[in-house]
Amino acid sequence: MSKILIVEDEESIAELEKDYLELSGFEVETERRGDEGLRRALEEDFDLIILDLMLPEVDGFEICHKVREQKNIPVLMVSAKKDDIDKIRGLGLGADDYMTKPFSPSELVARVKAHLARYERLIHSNVKENEIVEIRGIKIDKTARRVWVNGEERNFTTKEFDLLTFLAENPNHVFTKEELFREIWDMESVGDIATVTVHIKKIREKIELDTARPQYIETIWGVGYRFKV
Ligand code: CA
Repeated sequence: MSKILIVEDEESIAELEKDYLELSGFEVETERRGDEGLRRALEEDFDLIILDLMLPEVDGFEICHKVREQKNIPVLMVSAKKDDIDKIRGLGLGADDYMTKPFSPSELVARVKAHLARYERLIHSNVKENEIVEIRGIKIDKTARRVWVNGEERNFTTKEFDLLTFLAENPNHVFTKEELFREIWDMESVGDIATVTVHIKKIREKIELDTARPQYIETIWGVGYRFKV
């Protein structure tokens, strides 16, 4: 359950917001004073903060600023004065949303839900995803080192995989065999640029429908190869 902190010195407003949010299934805490609100916002684990601008002791500006230094949870700022809202927008304090009082409780609930959903997505997008290179029917998962051609997985040796990935990541760029050899094989490697030709042939057998008429890796006669987009 998402936990929300409301920092609001007008008790009737705080109660109204709390009631509506609780009815929508949120866990809600309220705080009247700015200094207490700031302390709890920093020390406790809230998922979202609704922050009044004018507060006793420490105002909403400062709370927002301090919270932003440490947390990236959504902050919704509310104020009775439209001018103040315009002013804080201009300050770029990093609040996620601004509402002018009075607002309808259902609008508040809708905005809270939207910001929590966005925040959830943000958190999940920070989970490291596999690095994928996808060109036409070819999908290369660089992290898992797996390749699919039109949805069917194909097995590649280490060097074949490296060569295919390098070319696919630099599409439409013509590389000489020497360049490819230097890029994929380390200096101590035994072998010569003919190795590149052999590997290109193997890769084509795995990705091309007709190796005589390659659709992906083209031979540029007298120069080298390029991955066609
Ligand atoms: Ca106030």
